[in-house]
Amino acid sequence: MNVARAVIVGGGIGGLTTAIALGRLGFGVTVYERASELREVGAGLTLWPNATRILLDLGLDDVVAKGARFKEGILRTPSGGRLATNRVASLEKHFDAPTIAIHRAELHQGLADALPVGTVQLGAECVALTQNEAAVEVSFSNGNRASSDVVIGADGIRSAVRAFLFPDITPRYAGYTGWRGIAPGQAATEIVETWGRGERFGIVPLRDRTYWFATSNRPAGNDRSGEESREELLERFAGWHAPIAELIRSTPASHILQNDIYDLIPFRQWSRGRVVLLGDAAHATTPNLGQGACMAIESAAVLAEELARGGDVREAISAYEKRRMPRTAKITNESWKIGRLGQMENRVACGARNLLMRGVPGALAEKRILDLIAT
Ligand SMILES: Cc1cc2nc3c(=O)[nH]c(=O)nc-3n(C[C@H](O)[C@H](O)[C@H](O)COP(=O)(O)OP(=O)(O)OC[C@H]3O[C@@H](n4cnc5c(N)ncnc54)[C@H](O)[C@@H]3O)c2cc1C
Repeated sequence: MNVARAVIVGGGIGGLTTAIALGRLGFGVTVYERASELREVGAGLTLWPNATRILLDLGLDDVVAKGARFKEGILRTPSGGRLATNRVASLEKHFDAPTIAIHRAELHQGLADALPVGTVQLGAECVALTQNEAAVEVSFSNGNRASSDVVIGADGIRSAVRAFLFPDITPRYAGYTGWRGIAPGQAATEIVETWGRGERFGIVPLRDRTYWFATSNRPAGNDRSGEESREELLERFAGWHAPIAELIRSTPASHILQNDIYDLIPFRQWSRGRVVLLGDAAHATTPNLGQGACMAIESAAVLAEELARGGDVREAISAYEKRRMPRTAKITNESWKIGRLGQMENRVACGARNLLMRGVPGALAEKRILDLIAT
């Protein structure tokens, strides 16, 4: 049976992009989001050309234009020495699209604005799913129900939809926690990531602000208030190159976010019948490659394309899984490995790592990025 109506659970980057892509192809779509208002956390995001290409193809030029463009990322040591330069020129040429850094709220708002009014239903937490040969029914915490030809679970790494389908799949802790903040003013002109021993700090210029992130090895279960986080960060990154201390100091403590870093070990099935997973619910990855949201955007485009072929829903879903699983597994695994490298603690191992990074010619590093991300 063909698909005419789709229900999307979750109004994050993945859910909203899927709604836009399906809407452009003529589907009736409703997004059910558990939050009472649509908003993203106060942090930045890098979007690589594989994702901006899709946003541009969806006519979201205004959203892409809100990002700051960047041409290279520089890897440094805590004293400021350069370990490597990663250029994105080949990748941009391949996709004919820019690499950008954008505030999450701006991206999210831009996606929401591209949907017809009424597409997103707020305060609707998915609490149950039932399906038969002909349709799926979703129940929400507010008592509402929705019946549909297909349900797309885009409800994040701790997906309720995934828990209904595959209760045994649970996130894997990466071994490190992460902080994020937005400082006023543009404190740098390029992206900088600094690798220490078991700790990293990243600086990402947005159009008029600076997004920064930091990581540190430790057991899971960190939940600290902004002020405590700031004090710890100032101590932990004391003596690291400028403007790291200044960025931490100038960020309002209440705006510092801390999240332990998790991903999902790639698994073999993202669907049952008419219910399918997308974005972090299906293929959450550690942030080391800045590709989690990019993968959600790619999956949105591919699922919409397969559903639009007009065949049986299950065949469309199966084609989507076949196209997306190898690609997202590769990114998840590579991102995990980069995390292990970046979070090394042993002094000798870190010395060898840094020597290796310094020895990689720029052209080779650029080709590696191209090989990994180009499709
Ligand atoms: C520290 C960090 C840095 C990152 N940096 C980058 C980066 O630079 N570039 C990049 O591409 N990616 C990055 N990512 C990854 C990126 O944030 C995610 O991959 C992306 O947000 C996933 O989008 P999503 O829509 O699948 O899930 P989410 O953003 O988690 O959205 C899920 C939505 O579903 C809703 N929801 C949950 N449960 C229910 C329910 N039962 N019923 C209804 N609604 C529900 C939630 O409220 C939420 O709105 C980063 C991640 C982290 C943690």
